[in-house]
Amino acid sequence: NQKPRVVVLGAGYAGMMTTKKLTKLLRPEQAEIVLVNKHNYHYQTTWLHQVAAGTINQNQVRMMISDVIDTKHRVNLIQDSVLEIKKDEKTVVLENGELQYDILVVGLGFESATFGISGMKENAFAIQTIDSSRLIYDHIEYQFSRYKNEEGNKEELLTILVGGSGFTGIEFVGELTESVKKLCRKYDIPRYKARIINVEAAPSILPGFDEELVTYAKSSLEARGVEFRTGTMIKECKEDGFVVGEGEEIKAGTVVWTGGVQANSILGESGFEITKGRVTVNNDLRAPGYRDIFILGDCAWVMDKENDRPYPPNAQNAMQQADTAAQNIASLIYGGPMQEYKFENKGTVASLGGSEAIGTVFDRQLFGKPAKTMKNVVDNRYLFMLGGPGLVLKKGKLSLF
Ligand code: FAD
Repeated sequence: NQKPRVVVLGAGYAGMMTTKKLTKLLRPEQAEIVLVNKHNYHYQTTWLHQVAAGTINQNQVRMMISDVIDTKHRVNLIQDSVLEIKKDEKTVVLENGELQYDILVVGLGFESATFGISGMKENAFAIQTIDSSRLIYDHIEYQFSRYKNEEGNKEELLTILVGGSGFTGIEFVGELTESVKKLCRKYDIPRYKARIINVEAAPSILPGFDEELVTYAKSSLEARGVEFRTGTMIKECKEDGFVVGEGEEIKAGTVVWTGGVQANSILGESGFEITKGRVTVNNDLRAPGYRDIFILGDCAWVMDKENDRPYPPNAQNAMQQADTAAQNIASLIYGGPMQEYKFENKGTVASLGGSEAIGTVFDRQLFGKPAKTMKNVVDNRYLFMLGGPGLVLKKGKLSLF
């Protein structure tokens, strides 16, 4: 009897935590564990807006997978790109080969959703991976440098236009207030010439946040130079800006879209049933009709039956799902009941750049520095769970303690 092979796709929050739990729940003779990821490093998706704004060194945001998971003796790490899941043949097609599985965990994360807005996919940057985020900052700086060095360039080059004022869009413009200040100093440009404009179709920013928090966030960001255009529909995205409303053009040197995410498109292309961009998943986190495929994190559409709405696509949810998935995989292997997943929302904190943040934690509203400290606690807690105190010291955010 060969031992079963558990294949985990994607080393994000869901994939890393599932792999880690599996190494604790299953002995080497009980199961082979394979982790497939595009890179040999794991990155913190929740910090990518800082990479995109240039306020953090990208090396703080990523770590070698082998530093936190035993890839020598316990987990077979395959660095490759997943192209397709042939679910009826229990095979994953990779760029450089094929891989058979007995149990599959899919944690391939999100991609930008542009809702068919003309030109958005082609012309706007997206905060999606380490590389795509670095490109954004490099582009912003290049535009500042061009403005300074080329004859006849317009001030529009210094404008950064951000579509979408959800969590990512707001955290990003917050960071931009810091980096734009520094870039203006570096290139001897008066601060007022550089603009940060956020465009949002909804009447207000940060949907889902309490009104007091939204008001605080908006005025804090406005005070540091962010311009908001709420209630403004983006009709088209061009290389040099948005066309909004009745045809008004907002010109910019850098255009970034943060307005929507959906599951990695590999899943839809592999024939999984999609609900609003994500894969419909049973409450035990398995794809309907497949006893051996678990879909987690931003790829999954899991219903919160009590409130009749899906659980949110966030890191907290992805990590909690990893617990349930690992337990259920162990049950599949040595027999036992399947657990139903239930998300326990511990709160959400959004950083607004510098020492500013807002959030709700255990039903308490937090503003400013206390919120920022809490944000760092949350970030460091994840590092602790993944790699203990050593990883917190190496990669953590320790500045506000
Ligand atoms: P990810 O963490 O995105 O991991 C997916 C992994 O799959 C990556 O390692 C990627 O390299 C790999 N991969 C992708 N495609 C392939 C392929 N074809 N082949 C091989 N490997 C592949 N959530 C919060 O809870 N709190 C926050 O404060 C917060 N802030 C955020 C800020 C930003 C800027 C963004 C973008 C998101 C934020 N989120 C936050 C949401 C959170 O990051 C996601 O919900 C979370 O990352 C989902 O985890 P995941 O494991 O599903 O995917």
